[in-house]
Amino acid sequence: ESTSFAVRVAPLGTHGQVLVLAEDQTERQRVEAVRRDFVANVSHELKTPVGALSLLAETVEDAADDPEAVRRFAGRMQHEAARLTYLVQDLITLSRIQGGEPIPAPEQVSVDEAVHEAIDRCNTKASAKDIALVAGGTEGLKVWGDDELLVTALRNLIDNAVAYSPEHTRVVISARPAGDTVEVSVSDQGIGIPESAQERIFERFFRVDAARSRATGGTGLGLAIVKHVAVAHGGEVTVWSKEGSGSTFTLRLPAFGGQAVPVPSTTIPQ
Ligand code: ADP
Repeated sequence: ESTSFAVRVAPLGTHGQVLVLAEDQTERQRVEAVRRDFVANVSHELKTPVGALSLLAETVEDAADDPEAVRRFAGRMQHEAARLTYLVQDLITLSRIQGGEPIPAPEQVSVDEAVHEAIDRCNTKASAKDIALVAGGTEGLKVWGDDELLVTALRNLIDNAVAYSPEHTRVVISARPAGDTVEVSVSDQGIGIPESAQERIFERFFRVDAARSRATGGTGLGLAIVKHVAVAHGGEVTVWSKEGSGSTFTLRLPAFGGQAVPVPSTTIPQ
């Protein structure tokens, strides 16, 4: 890996001495490159649905005397508009949490309620594919966190589990106390993730199969959001996956002290 320095030279004193300042630019350049990539990616992702929308609008105009065609094109316009909306929503969520700041006002969050809230929001998509969403072990568990962000993270994991699974399968959402943390796992019987990609799936806009992700309505930001929510909570998200048999994503979050969580008192936070 190459390192680059910005060197500044300033005269010092009256005897021709100079002050040489060498500043390591490597990290700054890396951050700048990541930012440029992100802006380029966002622009591309925004341009695609906007381009499709304007093309569809022209086509609708030409098909004005064919009501069936108009209906079909209108449906596709709605689909593209929805994609734009999801993308903008995800970008807003990400911009709120990606600064690496901890969440401002953590509260007691019921894992059971958060899981069921997330399941409710994914039910329509799951039933369309006859996928059963099954929750277990969530009762009585409490974590420290931001309710809305935790539901968003869980919804993204369940959404993906449904999107990348065949029809008539199961998605199991389970929780268990683990020391001074609570682990919430989302397991599917879906297509799985190749080992070589498992490290990269949490990057913004990284997809194993871009065409498939877009077809299922993915923005490519879901797992980046999950990761930032986990980190903002002082937790983490990990993945286990086998191609062809399924994936399990595990969110580890700080347990809320003094509740039903059976942990030794010395490890209870606060
Ligand atoms: P997307 O909107 O593309 O789903 P995500 O950030 O949520 O974006 O996920 C990134 C990529 O990780 C997906 O495009 C997909 O290739 C892969 N992925 C995520 N969840 C799963 C899963 N449960 N099963 C298989 N692949 C998954």
